[in-house]
Amino acid sequence: MAVYPTSLDLLIEGRAYMNGSLMEVSIGIVGGKIAWIGKYSKAPPAAQVVHLQSKEILLPGMVDMHVHMRDLEEASKEDWYTGTLSALAGGVTFVADMPNNKPPARSLEVLKVKQREASRKALVDYGFYAGLPASSAELSRMIEFGVVGLKLYPDDLERDCLVESLRLAAAEGLLVVAHAEDPTILRLAEAIEPKDIRRHCLLRPIEAEAAGVRLLDYLRSKLGFQLHLTHISSARALFTALGCKLRGGVQLDTAIHYLFLDEGIVERVGGIAKVNPPVRREREVRVLLTALAAGMLDAVVSD
Ligand SMILES: [Zn+2]
Repeated sequence: MAVYPTSLDLLIEGRAYMNGSLMEVSIGIVGGKIAWIGKYSKAPPAAQVVHLQSKEILLPGMVDMHVHMRDLEEASKEDWYTGTLSALAGGVTFVADMPNNKPPARSLEVLKVKQREASRKALVDYGFYAGLPASSAELSRMIEFGVVGLKLYPDDLERDCLVESLRLAAAEGLLVVAHAEDPTILRLAEAIEPKDIRRHCLLRPIEAEAAGVRLLDYLRSKLGFQLHLTHISSARALFTALGCKLRGGVQLDTAIHYLFLDEGIVERVGGIAKVNPPVRREREVRVLLTALAAGMLDAVVSD
C-alpha cells in the first residue's frame, strides 16, 4: 500500500509537464524528493508553498548526456562549477562528462582526479565516460569505479586495444558513445583540402561522417555492444544511422548547434565556431530539425 506523507517540505502548484502533456497539478517534496502528487485542495500541509505564475511551467530535470566540463589543465575554459551552473540555468540536473580532458580520462587514475574536482564544484548530478584506455584490464577497473559509458573518438578506431575493449563493453552492458568520423577519410581530406578555417567543413566531409557510422555499426554487429552515435551533423549520416537503428542496437543524438547554426557562422566569427564534426549547410540543418520534430532522435545534447 502506498504511504502518503502527513506533511511536506515544499509544495509546488501550477502547470507541470507529466506523462507527455501539461496539466494543472500540485507536487509535494519531502527531503529533496517528490513524495506526493495530486490536487492542491488535497495536499498535506507544507512548510513552503510555491504558486507558479500563468507563464511558468514545472519541468522534470533534464539529462545532458554529452558535456565537456574541461577543468584540470583547462579550467580557464570551463570547470565543474561554471559548466554545471550553466546546466542548472538551463534546467539540466544530470550531466555526463566526456573524457577528452587534459590529461585525457583514459585511466582510473585520471577518473579519480575528475571525481575529486567534480565532487567539490558540481551543482548538479554527474557521471563520467571512460576514454579508450591502453588495455581492456584498465577499462575493467574504470567500469568498476563507475562510468556511464565508453567514448570513442575517430582516432580510437585505429588503436590496438579497440576490439578487446568493445568485447568487454558488450559483456558488461556498457554503452559505447561514438563520434562517427572515419579517420582514413579525415586524413585524406587533410592532404587534399586547403587549411582555411572558413572552409573547415571540407576537412571534415560528410563522407567521413557517414562512413564512420557504417564502420561503427559493423563493429557493433560483430561484437554486440550497445552503440550510441553522438552529434550526428548531416543528413547522409542521419539516414545511415537511422538505417542502423532500424536493425537494432543503435541510438543517436544531435547537438544543439547542428540544429540552429550553419556554415555561415564560421565565415562570420571564425575559429570560435569551429567544432568537429563541423556545422553544415542550411539544408542539413533543416533535415535534422525535421528528424527531431518527427521523434527520430533519441537525445539532443549540448556537447
Ligand atoms: Zn563532445
